[in-house]
Amino acid sequence: MNIRTRFAPSPTGLLHIGGARTALFNYLFAKHYGGEFLLRIEDTDKARSTQEAVQVILNGLEWLGLNHDGQTVYQSQREARHVEVALQLLAEGKAYKCYCSPAELQAMREQAVAEKRAPRYDGRWRDRDPAEAPAGVKPAIRLKAPREGEVTLQDLVQGEVRVKNAEMDDMIILRSDGTPTYLHAVVVDDHDMAITHVIRGDDHLTNTFRQIQIYDAMGWEKPAFAHIPLIHGADGAKLSKRHGAVSILEFREQGFLPEALCNYLLRLGWGHGDEEFLSRDKQVELFTLDGVGRAASRMDYAKLTHLNGMWLRQADDARLAAEVTQRLVAEGQVVSTEAAARLEVLMPGLKERAKTLNDLTASAAFLARTVPLPFEPKALALLSDDAKAMLARLLPVLEATDFSAAQLDAALRGFAEAEERKLGQVAQPVRAALTGSTMSPGIDATLAALGREEVVVRLQAAIEGRIQ
Ligand code: GLU
Repeated sequence: MNIRTRFAPSPTGLLHIGGARTALFNYLFAKHYGGEFLLRIEDTDKARSTQEAVQVILNGLEWLGLNHDGQTVYQSQREARHVEVALQLLAEGKAYKCYCSPAELQAMREQAVAEKRAPRYDGRWRDRDPAEAPAGVKPAIRLKAPREGEVTLQDLVQGEVRVKNAEMDDMIILRSDGTPTYLHAVVVDDHDMAITHVIRGDDHLTNTFRQIQIYDAMGWEKPAFAHIPLIHGADGAKLSKRHGAVSILEFREQGFLPEALCNYLLRLGWGHGDEEFLSRDKQVELFTLDGVGRAASRMDYAKLTHLNGMWLRQADDARLAAEVTQRLVAEGQVVSTEAAARLEVLMPGLKERAKTLNDLTASAAFLARTVPLPFEPKALALLSDDAKAMLARLLPVLEATDFSAAQLDAALRGFAEAEERKLGQVAQPVRAALTGSTMSPGIDATLAALGREEVVVRLQAAIEGRIQ
């Protein structure tokens, strides 16, 4: 069987973390079995769908590296086909016209509430002669759903789930204004797209039982279903803004790497031994639905941040330098070609300390700046008169040193010895003078990355007190 999955977001808001995980699971499942992963934008709710939201979804998926196969399907463009299927069901007597007025439906609802029942359409037009139709009223089309028996679902995550047909009413598939309903459109699309596995959030489980009724009425083969648990906040409540970032683009802005986010989302609710750090290839190799748990998972931002740090350390230096440059430029910083090159040279040391791209950007900013540098108070405190005098003595030593990390290290050690100071007593004021802060990669690497000319300029500025 050629496995085909799909991600079917409604473009009514952001691409949130739960949606991203659903997309990831669909992607990995398809790729694991050598199948295809399709994308369908469910934009039938015209009032709430926006082009902007579609773009956010497309950008988010691209950023996460979840590229889909084939053309993007837009549900709104398939309306004629949805109508066609509804009319076929009508013609075959598997659906019927319902002429209930809004007032009648409202009365039915009120009665149900009064009797403490779930509101349900009572099927009054199911067997009624259409000749009795009130004049001038446009009917809705309802599925003539079975009333006996039950729908049994062998869910690939939830196990066997059953619902009695008697608990479901005859759902509308085509509204009186001629537009298809969402539940109906999804079935028609999944069938036409030859979807073999529907993997989606377990908030869709009740929809599935209704959708199965449509498949059965059409005599269509049903896809397999897998309803995955939702992601909750650390407190167990449904994940929302107050827990932290929820939109994929927000995670991006906060400096998370897409591979770290995917790795985290996969491990959230899918178990595979203790292996925490999994490349995309490894994920594809290992992913099956067997590892997906039934319990809701809890978003742990600290864990994600930790994992992001691990991914940062593995990431390519040139790529990180480009990311950091982009962020510095966005902050209004001019990044010269030399500064961009320095960034890349120093990246191995910088990324050791960072957990996010934003940390990395903050710690790398000194490389792009020009004198006078802004100073953190702690760094300023290191520039005592004694330290400045020491830097003045160090300057000619450095001017005469070959600017390789090894030579610089030897020169600093020799200088410290001659000054009868510990290496740190030399290195800290030098670091402050070069970076305006008290933290940086190793001092020899920092000096080497800046280069002789820039080091001299910065030391001189510090010695003369030209600082911001
Ligand atoms: N459009 C639905 C949503 O965004 C998903 C429907 C489905 O996967 O069947 O929640």
